[in-house]
Amino acid sequence: MKSKKSPKLPSSDEQLTQKQLLQECPICDASYEGEHVAVLEEEEGTQLLHVTCGGCHQAIFALVVKSRGSISSIGMVTDLNLSDAERLRAAEPITEDTLLSFSRMLRQESSQFIQHILQ
Ligand SMILES: [Zn+2]
Repeated sequence: MKSKKSPKLPSSDEQLTQKQLLQECPICDASYEGEHVAVLEEEEGTQLLHVTCGGCHQAIFALVVKSRGSISSIGMVTDLNLSDAERLRAAEPITEDTLLSFSRMLRQESSQFIQHILQ
């Protein structure tokens, strides 16, 4: 998790850091190319980006919030590729009941579950 928040009136150093977060991979420092950046969601002043490094192929989610002339961004490393991110963004959240029944099934029927995923 890499987080950076600008004050209301960002200094030029702060702006440079924001720019670097979205232009360079936090893992290998390679420059991001434009074609590796996809906008997943966009609302007024807010963008959720999926950025894939052309160097190390590590992906991050970046949430960019623009407010009164300052820009804040939060980056989070993910193992989701772009198509996974788009597919799962539209999926329903997993409920507690689903997790509980899955946990119960693993405890009681683990051998059948293992046979099922090995098929
Ligand atoms: Zn990289």
